[in-house]
Amino acid sequence: MSAFFDAWHYDGKKAVKRKVEVQIIGQQFYLLEAEQRHGPFAFADVQYVAHQGEVDIYGMADRDGWRLMLSGPVPSDMAVLLPASRKYGGLVDRLGFAKAAIAFTLTSAAAVAVVLFSPVWLAPLIPDSVDQSLGDALVGNFGGRFCHTPAGDAALKKLVAALDANPQDLRVEVAKIDMLNAIALPGGNVILFDGLIKQAKTPDEVAGVLAHEIGHVREKHVMQALLRQMGLAVVLGGIDGNSGALVNNVLAMSYSRESEAEADAHSMKALANAYISPAGTASFFDRLSNLDGSAAAGKDSAAITGYLSSHPLSASRKEAFEKSIVKGKDYKPALNAAEWRALKSMCTQDRKAKSGFGFDFD
Ligand SMILES: [Zn+2]
Repeated sequence: MSAFFDAWHYDGKKAVKRKVEVQIIGQQFYLLEAEQRHGPFAFADVQYVAHQGEVDIYGMADRDGWRLMLSGPVPSDMAVLLPASRKYGGLVDRLGFAKAAIAFTLTSAAAVAVVLFSPVWLAPLIPDSVDQSLGDALVGNFGGRFCHTPAGDAALKKLVAALDANPQDLRVEVAKIDMLNAIALPGGNVILFDGLIKQAKTPDEVAGVLAHEIGHVREKHVMQALLRQMGLAVVLGGIDGNSGALVNNVLAMSYSRESEAEADAHSMKALANAYISPAGTASFFDRLSNLDGSAAAGKDSAAITGYLSSHPLSASRKEAFEKSIVKGKDYKPALNAAEWRALKSMCTQDRKAKSGFGFDFD
């Protein structure tokens, strides 16, 4: 019997992060709080989820949202009972973008995803646990590319809280990748690429794009698009057989016109609720479409293809945001000047974050 103290726990029912002690009894364990005891849980049901910074995150079979987060060195009698982390590590963590891209090139001809059923009605049937574990497995720590500074994190948190009523269900990260892109992934994951934040002139512009991606999460488009892109077998079969293709498919995931319109509508509503003007988003779209035309052969066009390939910018999208401006409404900036600076400089300041696509690692 032993106890381990540096542990945090979510029970999957309440969004409360609990500080717990792990008490090991044979092949089982309890989680002890000051006034409560959770368990017993079997080590056999523990699943590795992800590694973030110094913290290992574990889940529990058949318990959605159950998480155990362990930081620092784990006592050896407990370590031998926990599942190996590398086996289930995030795909990008394991493969790296470069290897994943090569794997995709080699397998794309063979990897024809057969969609047996319509993704539109199939998507709601995929259990939340699959959505969550697929998201965790895909994202991991994104190969160490997520940027963090105390002030940048606080600014991002403020932005997300302004745009969504249940921000604790979402995990929004900024990745140190110089590409103009933003993606929504399963499990409530949204990733803003630093290239997009650098290209934005005001926090309102980032707010509109972020709210659009949150719209894809909230309108349940992500699983639909994933099924359309890859088929049921890959989604349910997990990530081991077809991993390189999966990463690239996800990065190139695109949505139907209807989904895009719904995500835009969600964004405009979220901006209105937060008293953030949609004018920023309209001018951002405007600048991007001009960039597309004027710099077609230049370096800029490569940088913007990410967002444009998954989010075609029609004049009507820009006009919809313009039309949603309410004259005389008491709009305020999405972030103040200091917060905006902190968000913009977060990836430059975080020197520990890895950068780029081509970086190869184990
Ligand atoms: Zn979209």
